[in-house]
Amino acid sequence: MSILDKFSMRGKVSVITGGNRGIGRAIATGLAEAGSAIAIAARDDAKSEATLQELGQLGVPVIAVRTDVASRSDVEALLERVTRELGPVDVLVNNAGIGFHADALTLKDEEWQKLFAINLDAVWKASQIFGNQMVKRGSGSIINIGSISGCIINRPQWHSPYGISKAAVHHLTRSLAAEWASSGVRVNAIAPGYVKTEIASDEYETYRHYWRDEVPMQRYATPEEIAPMALLLASEASSFITGSVFTVDGGYTLW
Ligand code: NDP
Repeated sequence: MSILDKFSMRGKVSVITGGNRGIGRAIATGLAEAGSAIAIAARDDAKSEATLQELGQLGVPVIAVRTDVASRSDVEALLERVTRELGPVDVLVNNAGIGFHADALTLKDEEWQKLFAINLDAVWKASQIFGNQMVKRGSGSIINIGSISGCIINRPQWHSPYGISKAAVHHLTRSLAAEWASSGVRVNAIAPGYVKTEIASDEYETYRHYWRDEVPMQRYATPEEIAPMALLLASEASSFITGSVFTVDGGYTLW
């Protein structure tokens, strides 16, 4: 097998949560370009349909499954439908996530719970549900989208629940990687720096001094710059990599 063949996703089935926009859409596109069948799982039907049309041009089977990742029954139904229509799942990308600013003195319990339900609990649930199928088959790759916010404290905005949830995603990654390594299932995470997407659309200008100018590369990432790391972790090219968190941040966490 040549080195480039190791990156091929031909014959594989990949599920990307939150695959209808932003980083998730770029990862879905990248894996589709490498030959994988794709299922995107998100709530906004109009956005999912638009992304489905784009992915449909790439010559691989693609489906969109309306899913709220916070709902266990939705995620179970997602696995069932993907397996029935595309085949057993080789790659799960836990990408869906939310973020908001939060002052620690005034944050409400409901706000904390809402964020953790999506950013952490949903990653756990999907990993368990898809991991069951993967462990039984003896193969699979789970890729969790963490964040530099799980490694450092962002400034100038406060959002402690977001960073705490991402730090927990990084450690969940390591825990599951250790538990499932002998079953042939690999679990890794990507920790992006600032990527210009809808998650903080109003704020890229407001905070550009801290978020952009202080990055050694002095720019934001595009979603497409996160996708190649996902392809590495999804494919045979990373056959000996598990339990790792890969920073993709233009050098932001260097200082
Ligand atoms: P976007 O806001 O552009 O996209 C978020 C995606 O998550 C959408 O597809 C959305 O789909 C989906 N989503 C949100 N809630 C749910 C839910 N309950 N069920 C299913 N899908 C859901 O964000 P990004 O692309 O920027 O972020 C993607 C991931 O990358 C997140 O985990 C984020 O924390 C992380 N990240 C982002 C960075 C950045 O700078 N942008 C930096 C580091 C990490 P829908 O609304 O249709 O359900």
